[in-house]
Amino acid sequence: MGMTTSDVVIIGAGPYGLSAAAHLRTIPGLEVRLFGEPMSFWDRNMPVGMFLRSNWTATQIADPNGRLTLEAFQAAKGIRFSTPVPLDRFIEYGLWYQREAVPDVDHRKLTRLESHPKGFRILADDDEAIYSRRVIIASGIGAFAWRPPEFKGLPSFLASHTSEHRDLQKFAGKRVLVIGGGQSALESGALLCESGAEVEVIARSTRINWLGGWASKTLHQRLGRFTSRLLYAPTDVGPAGISQLVARPDLLRRLPRGVQDRLRKRAVRPAGARWLASRLQNVPVRLGRSVVAVEVTGERVKVRIDDGSERTVDHLLLGTGYHVDVSKYEFLSPELGQSIHRFNGYPRLKEGLETSVAGLHIVGAPAAWSFGPLMQFVSGARYASHVLTRCISGKNTSPQKK
Ligand SMILES: Cc1cc2nc3c(=O)[nH]c(=O)nc-3n(C[C@H](O)[C@H](O)[C@H](O)COP(=O)(O)OP(=O)(O)OC[C@H]3O[C@@H](n4cnc5c(N)ncnc54)[C@H](O)[C@@H]3O)c2cc1C
Repeated sequence: MGMTTSDVVIIGAGPYGLSAAAHLRTIPGLEVRLFGEPMSFWDRNMPVGMFLRSNWTATQIADPNGRLTLEAFQAAKGIRFSTPVPLDRFIEYGLWYQREAVPDVDHRKLTRLESHPKGFRILADDDEAIYSRRVIIASGIGAFAWRPPEFKGLPSFLASHTSEHRDLQKFAGKRVLVIGGGQSALESGALLCESGAEVEVIARSTRINWLGGWASKTLHQRLGRFTSRLLYAPTDVGPAGISQLVARPDLLRRLPRGVQDRLRKRAVRPAGARWLASRLQNVPVRLGRSVVAVEVTGERVKVRIDDGSERTVDHLLLGTGYHVDVSKYEFLSPELGQSIHRFNGYPRLKEGLETSVAGLHIVGAPAAWSFGPLMQFVSGARYASHVLTRCISGKNTSPQKK
């Protein structure tokens, strides 16, 4: 099998990987290779019929010339849509962005990443070895789907994570219990109900945090453009005021750790977009409740709730989110994984989103512990791509020689 070399290899062609590749290719003489099936997490692991929760500006994938906007995409394709942006339109936009900015993306999956005297050795799924001086992990959250321990023993036909489904229509006529109180659980509840499933949602939280409700509408619209802009950054992450801080990771990361943690929690607590409320009118949502026991009964599962009630359902759908733990990236060699300084599964990143391993960068949700909750959203790709470009153009030499 052949062997190739590169200055930078990017693992993952979602919004962060695409944006990073587009930006880094502006550095003269730098060879940048992008690997992965473009937009595949959005295409395979999110439900048909979903809408994006982020607003219009926060749904743009940043490019170095500000040319590849949603508006330009609409004009190029002769189509119109607005917010909430439908999932299929966002995927089409991402694929159009890829064709425009990174037409030579390599669709292969990378199966192994390990240290090498010249930087890193990476294996593609056909066993070709690629040697690169730098690697940017832009592999998203797919590996971190969180299944609470109480559901671990159940077979997949009885319990599955929301990320395992593309088409919820297959549950038509079935009784489904959705666990969780965030956007994914609530939207799954609505889509299941609309698909003809008998659905109920159970959430530990005692209330649903609705986004885009009366208070935020007032601040956005009634207090005028100026006040709204003062309180909310275009990145659209976090409530009034906090949104501006979250949009500035360089500032945020200088705050005491405890304050950063509190802001992160506040900015990304489980919440549902207000436009979901009417779609959930026929879906019972039990709040402040959790599952205490599950038992397989033939083809179904019996679930006991902490209020003493029981139900027997065809399927449990876990809208229980994602827990970052970089050691779960299957391609990461155990030795390299252990060399990355971590906290609670998150890598401790320094300037340039670089890990404790020289030349190894991580972008997207795993960067949130170091650079704040902006990194969990598409709108954070602008910041990530800028700092990567600054870092790599500033030291466009082998990180091993630093
Ligand atoms: C249901 C749901 C709804 C969401 N809605 C929004 C929203 O409205 N707005 C928003 O900003 N964010 C939203 N998010 C968060 C969203 O996941 C992130 O904003 C976004 O995906 C970050 O982009 P990324 O490039 O880091 O990750 P991804 O889009 O996940 O891209 C990573 C890519 O890497 C690929 N990959 C992984 N391993 C390998 C490998 N070994 N070799 C090659 N390729 C690999 C994956 O296949 C994937 O395509 C949502 C998340 C979920 C789960």
